[in-house]
Amino acid sequence: MSVSGDHTVVLRGVAHRYRGRDADVQALAPLELEIGAGEFVAVVGPSGCGKTTLLQLLAGFLTPTEGTVTVGGAPVTAPSPDRGVVFQQANLYPWMTVRGNVELGPRLRGVPRAERRRIAERYLELVGLSEFGGAATYELSGGMQQRCQIARVLANDPAIMLLDEPFGALDALTRDRLQDELHRIWRGSGKTAFFITHSVEEAVYLGTRVLVMSPRPGRIVLDEQVPFDAGARTAELRATPAFVAFRERIAATIGQG
Ligand code: ADP
Ligand code: MG
Repeated sequence: MSVSGDHTVVLRGVAHRYRGRDADVQALAPLELEIGAGEFVAVVGPSGCGKTTLLQLLAGFLTPTEGTVTVGGAPVTAPSPDRGVVFQQANLYPWMTVRGNVELGPRLRGVPRAERRRIAERYLELVGLSEFGGAATYELSGGMQQRCQIARVLANDPAIMLLDEPFGALDALTRDRLQDELHRIWRGSGKTAFFITHSVEEAVYLGTRVLVMSPRPGRIVLDEQVPFDAGARTAELRATPAFVAFRERIAATIGQG
């Protein structure tokens, strides 16, 4: 995995309003945001505050009704494999094997068969699915499906990973394990992660930087670096006074304290 070029994400005066039949919904208030390459930005906020809308603007699935989104100075106008999206529900193609799903991006980009097979094996191994390449996706557990989805995104070697509550539907043990795995994959990759969650604990555990959004229309009401380094994530970290104090302060900001 390598990242080259400028992948700074810049939002200037970005707002989004959905047009409704009877009324419009102002999902996001105008906001300013700059994300440096390689950051792990974790975003928390109450349900309906515009988190998914913000992610879809970064992905290029939506165009802001006000303001501009740029990556490396270039406006985001459409989705790109360079900005990989991981959803809460794995949306794997059930008519392809696990490996077929991971190979899909390289295949669409015309990568020759042997090379894309190598790519798939590499990322399946990275997410612990080497033995399941030939399996049907519906044979996988929820946690394994999320691993597969992450491998599928990584196979495009995106500079930016956009994750929308990817572990929200998993049981606690699986979620904790996948958090550690995602952090390990991100660490040293040079990739930018933009990770949405409704769990303050998860945001503080994974992020190098935590953003808190207000209720709709979403604004950024807190934007802070976490007070510990980006090294390996372990269960012990969760119990340290620095972790607990920071987590409690973040929770208080969104009224969960
Ligand atoms: P979150 O991800 O934080 O829960 P969303 O970004 O999904 O919030 O939604 C923000 C607000 O915009 C919510 O009030 C939601 O109902 C509304 N909304 C989302 N998508 C649409 C849409 N396609 N049309 C109209 N309103 C929408
Ligand atoms: Mg959402």
